[in-house]
Amino acid sequence: MVFALAQDLSWILGEAKSIEDEIIEWRRRIHMYPELGYQERKTAKLVEEKLREWGYEVETGIAETGVVGVLKGGRGGGRTIALRADMDALPIQELNDVPYRSRVKGVMHACGHDAHVAMLLGAAKILAKIKDRLNGYVKLIFQPAEEGGNGGKRMVEEGVLDDPPVDIIYAIHVWSSLPSGKVGLRAGPLLAATGVFEAYIKGKGGHGAYPHMTIDPIPILAQVIQGLQTIVSRNIDPTNPAVVSIGVVRAGTAFNVIPEEAYIAGTYRYLEPSVGETIKTRIREIIANTCKAYKAECKIKVEDKTPPTINNEKAVELAKNTIAQLIGEENIVEAKPSMGGEDFAYYLQKVPGAMIILGTGNPSKGTDKPHHSPYFNVDEEVLYIGTAIHVALAYKYLTPQHPTQ
Ligand SMILES: [Zn+2]
Ligand SMILES: [Zn+2]
Repeated sequence: MVFALAQDLSWILGEAKSIEDEIIEWRRRIHMYPELGYQERKTAKLVEEKLREWGYEVETGIAETGVVGVLKGGRGGGRTIALRADMDALPIQELNDVPYRSRVKGVMHACGHDAHVAMLLGAAKILAKIKDRLNGYVKLIFQPAEEGGNGGKRMVEEGVLDDPPVDIIYAIHVWSSLPSGKVGLRAGPLLAATGVFEAYIKGKGGHGAYPHMTIDPIPILAQVIQGLQTIVSRNIDPTNPAVVSIGVVRAGTAFNVIPEEAYIAGTYRYLEPSVGETIKTRIREIIANTCKAYKAECKIKVEDKTPPTINNEKAVELAKNTIAQLIGEENIVEAKPSMGGEDFAYYLQKVPGAMIILGTGNPSKGTDKPHHSPYFNVDEEVLYIGTAIHVALAYKYLTPQHPTQ
């Protein structure tokens, strides 16, 4: 009987490598037929069929198209680990010239969620094979509509973290700005809280030749734009990340007409809640008071979208140990927080867990293009590593501390 100090997890990497072709095939199939949020029917069907084939207890139609598979370990009860993948694509026309390019006009997997599904399916297959060695439950969550649809929030509301209650949860996001095969980890805030603001500035329209008889909303809009730029530069501690970006500005219909109304909309991002409060208050104050100064009326809406994605320290520690044993400590880097948002945040508000970043950027293969670009692609040679990480996390969490060999 040998008590191993550090578990040897290289066999998991071997298992994942042996099904690499299948993982890539799933990824390409999903990539060719991308589906927008809450419309992921083909993808959900593929997931359902595979999970049933491998003996999972499957529930479908959660938050419309979500699928959950539960695997009961052969060693009886115990803890439950959840692993999550998102399934939705984006309204982008793919410009990559690859044999598996999107067959759906104007829709593309430009964030790598096709890879997320494929990696988790690979893990599902391996975990089913080794289930007799597990003490507890594996819950695989395939959610819809991560891209702005808050599918994760609905999955949580519909009870995917209950029955069996989830003790820890992980997700992997492929990352094109991290070199292929590197894994990024970070305890604390990883991704930003996001929100949307919009305002209608109502003046008094008229003839371009007689401005004195109007309340022109266009110069007011210009002042508002300048004012909003000072929130991050003048109101927020420079050591605290924050973003205010204006994405829409609309006013006017003809060169000689002063319009009645102007419209502005944008997004704000932050990591610390107090920063968010300052941003939201200042957006309201600047728009309302600028309009007041120029005698215009305004209607302002400021709405939080996604909370920050905050990784649990212990969950990150477990991931660090596991991944170091799997692919070596030299392949783990400290992830930088990013101002993108993720609805994985909703799961992390309920249970401890972490989002893990998997590097897929390889300039020689052109897989270092930004997420949401029409040229985005993933380095498929990395996918089996993602599968192995999922399996290793479940295996480590659901096997006794000192396995006998
Ligand atoms: Zn995305
Ligand atoms: Zn994404």
